[in-house]
Amino acid sequence: MTGSAGAVEPRVPLAEARVVLAGLGVTGRALQRVLTPRVASLITVDDKADDADHSQLDADAAAAVLTRADLLVASPGFAPHHPVVAAALDAGVPVWSEIELAWRLRVDRLGSDAPAPWLGITGSNGKTTTVEMLAAILRAAGLRTAAVGNVGRPLVEAALDPTLDVLAVELSSFQLHFTHTISLQAGAVLNVAPDHLDWHGTIEAYARDKGRIYENVQVACVYNVADPKTEELVREADVVEGARAVGFVVGTPGPGDLGLVDDVLVDRAFHAADDDPDRRKSAAELGTLEDLKQLGDHNGVVPTHIVADALAAAALARAHGVPAAAVRDGLRSFGPSEHRIQRVAEVDGVTYVNDSKATNTHSAAASLAGFAHGTVVWIAGGLSKGATFDELVSSRADRMRAAVVIGADPGPLADTLARHAPQIPVVVIDPGDTETVMRRAVAAARDLAQPGDTVLLAPAGASQDQFVSYAQRGEEFARVVGELTV
Ligand code: ADP
Repeated sequence: MTGSAGAVEPRVPLAEARVVLAGLGVTGRALQRVLTPRVASLITVDDKADDADHSQLDADAAAAVLTRADLLVASPGFAPHHPVVAAALDAGVPVWSEIELAWRLRVDRLGSDAPAPWLGITGSNGKTTTVEMLAAILRAAGLRTAAVGNVGRPLVEAALDPTLDVLAVELSSFQLHFTHTISLQAGAVLNVAPDHLDWHGTIEAYARDKGRIYENVQVACVYNVADPKTEELVREADVVEGARAVGFVVGTPGPGDLGLVDDVLVDRAFHAADDDPDRRKSAAELGTLEDLKQLGDHNGVVPTHIVADALAAAALARAHGVPAAAVRDGLRSFGPSEHRIQRVAEVDGVTYVNDSKATNTHSAAASLAGFAHGTVVWIAGGLSKGATFDELVSSRADRMRAAVVIGADPGPLADTLARHAPQIPVVVIDPGDTETVMRRAVAAARDLAQPGDTVLLAPAGASQDQFVSYAQRGEEFARVVGELTV
């Protein structure tokens, strides 16, 4: 496998290895529980010095510990340039993600002599939505499964659960960077848009890490026909012989792809045996847009990106051998998720929508695209993670009536709006009093909105400069909107 991740194999078997674990968040704690009985010794390090049971390491201390280590297991927050990771790479110590460790430790399924296959999803946006749709489809097919990796329970625990038939795994580019030997039954890259460039350095490096999901895929590499970068990543991957490339498209699918014809989700990839003479002319119906209407707006119109996510989930499930009817049943059973284009309230004819999970420009663009021209009062801003807003603002200014800019550093977004959309009124919320930021933003948006408009929180940035998390930012929005109604 290609990559910049250095050595892969520890010098000694895991049971004899001196292991350093970096990061003690939710995933890190699970890793700690799993590793402790399985390795010779375990040292944990974390950047938060105030926690009594682990130590903070500066670069020198990290280097000293790592020269004596056989393996570093890194939580997702630890970028290659973090002192602990850099020290491991310098010392030639292998670095594994949670995914790599889980893959190595996975156990056989009950009554079988093989572990459960993994179906994996990565992409800049839509991973959680798609993984949960996939799990719903697999469950509708009667399979025991879990949606894991950044959702639900830690992957490393699910990998050790012999009762599961198949795993639906969300794989972030952070985790893929230090993943070396996985061989998914099927994997999908949903899209590649600029995000986390502060972690990966360049968009090329970021895309390369996402592309690692396709290495050694056994049955199908699922890609987005509308995003040529994803297809390129399939072409660059070394897959198991016989694995094929399967595209998904919100439109008429070519042979070998999944797509949408009128309002029908169709499968032209897994509908017939390879040697069936009618294969190129036929298709299987997987469901209709009606089956997704619970994810649509109040008129039942389903956003394009949700249809794309559903097609990707369907492709992975079909690669696992799930019947068409289970795709339909699974999608029907799938409900909207919190903080993702969620209608919160209607006040004085204005609809308030919480898409706090739109934490980068690509997802905010998808969100804004779902609304009529000139009807959105857009609340945005936060941590940009190295991205710029030019393309987002110039491509979506037509949707906006006005914009309200939050964030500890509102300057870059406000300047971009002034440059590309000078006709749009912009209110910049003084970052001074963090406690009241959302209340002031919603009040400003209310003043700017007209009946029939939507006040949309789709920040295009991460939340941690002013909020605890995207969830808390969304809850705060819903709370202050709730106060408008009393
Ligand atoms: P992730 O797990 O990749 O962060 P989520 O499913 O949590 O993705 O969705 C993140 C944001 O992206 C939400 O605002 C959601 O509405 C939006 N989104 C979901 N699917 C897509 C897609 N295919 N393209 C663009 N944006 C999407």
